[in-house]
Amino acid sequence: CGAQEAEEQFFSMDTVMSIHAYGSGAAEAAAAARREVEALDSQLSRTKADSLISQLNAHAGDGTDVALDTDTARLLAFSKSISQLLPGDFDITIAPVMDAWGFTGEDRHVPDSETLSAAMALVGSEGLSVDEAAGTARLERAGMAVDLGAVAKGYAAAKAEEALREAGITSALLDLGRNITAIGPKTDGTAWRVGVADPENDSQYLCILSLEDQTASTSGGYERYFEENGVRYHHIIDPETGYPADSGLKSVTVISADHLLADALSTALFVAGPEEALEFWRSRDDFELVLCTGENQLLVTEGLEAGFTFTGEELGYDC
Ligand code: ADP
Ligand code: MG
Ligand code: MG
Repeated sequence: CGAQEAEEQFFSMDTVMSIHAYGSGAAEAAAAARREVEALDSQLSRTKADSLISQLNAHAGDGTDVALDTDTARLLAFSKSISQLLPGDFDITIAPVMDAWGFTGEDRHVPDSETLSAAMALVGSEGLSVDEAAGTARLERAGMAVDLGAVAKGYAAAKAEEALREAGITSALLDLGRNITAIGPKTDGTAWRVGVADPENDSQYLCILSLEDQTASTSGGYERYFEENGVRYHHIIDPETGYPADSGLKSVTVISADHLLADALSTALFVAGPEEALEFWRSRDDFELVLCTGENQLLVTEGLEAGFTFTGEELGYDC
């Protein structure tokens, strides 16, 4: 009876995902973890009319404290706290601006200035009130809306890990769409080896990381974008301008034992840019960074040196 192994591949949260679990009961565990992710998608999506987040958005400005559940309320409160830590970089009330650019549906386009300023006037986390104990939230002004695209996959990774561990799994690898989560080490006791994609060609790697009980979450302008009149517009918005962030970075990878923090910070620090990202890193001890700059320079924080392999030289990168 050799080691058991199971894989679930599926489409959720608008991206292709996979869950590999190892050990006894792997198949049931991977299926349970997948169900957890799919359930969260139904709760957190704002394009599903009956989701909790759609209910919150539908009541914007009417004074209703919308009943969520304690987990969702905690996720909203966490997201607000990231806005306070990195003001001007991160805001889940960016939804009206995402809509103005057509990123929510298929019709992507540069918005006219009136549409964009009307959308921008609705952005601001101070207009989102959350009562974690009661499990409720309220959007203060009509037209406001929440978009959890920046944190949903990291949160899903945390929930999937819970499901796997409850089923007795201590070794697994999750790929929830540029959020790679390593549970435990591999079954042979060594760390997982995970590549950070080249922003110019995601079948090639800038570097390889060693991960164990950690997530590596990557955000970049190359993930979702459209072109208009020869200009590329991507889906991570600078909340101060309403335009796609242009901070001198091609991608940001955050490595952390906190899966949700990794996802939130990869988005926020992509907007922040290299100087502010490194300054923020210096102020904390719960994550590491791989920054890929517009000049094809890889900036790697000290905590990653062990198990880090640079593979971007032939691709034209410096490290
Ligand atoms: P991915 O699309 O791979 O999940 P991110 O985790 O970086 O990449 O999340 C990007 C998503 O976050 C966007 O599609 C949008 O839903 C939302 N978003 C865009 N800009 C911001 C921002 N400045 N703050 C918070 N959320 C944002
Ligand atoms: Mg993110
Ligand atoms: Mg993400």
